[in-house]
Amino acid sequence: MSHEPGHDPNCLFCKIVAGQIPSKKVYEDEQVLVFHDIHPWAPVHVLIIPKQHIATMAEVTREHAPLLGHMNALVPELMKQLGVTNGFRTVMNTGPDGGQEVYHLHLHAMGGPRPWLKG
Ligand code: 5GP
Repeated sequence: MSHEPGHDPNCLFCKIVAGQIPSKKVYEDEQVLVFHDIHPWAPVHVLIIPKQHIATMAEVTREHAPLLGHMNALVPELMKQLGVTNGFRTVMNTGPDGGQEVYHLHLHAMGGPRPWLKG
């Protein structure tokens, strides 16, 4: 089956990008999609993902620096928009030993009152 470059038809998050699986969307532009995590670890927990399929941070190269910069630079305004006013945490899990479960690059951004935060 043919598919657009940068899209993996078997990838869960590519299906979310394509609108084949619903998500609670927070933000979207040409490069990224942001939506609420289905099993939040914090009062506010969103995932910032590139629209193009990149499986994992382990595959990222210097060429991806503008995209990675964009994903990170969006976090403060997203947190503000979602009412997070007292700090937040960003996490990117990479590979089996990094606890990555979904193999489409994603940046977790979490905030809200602190009892959820360990360490
Ligand atoms: P990872 O462990 O790969 O860093 O995180 C994957 C995240 O994706 C988990 O926090 C999980 O709750 C979230 N997730 C998995 N499937 C879905 C889904 O279908 N929709 C949404 N919104 N989040 C998902």
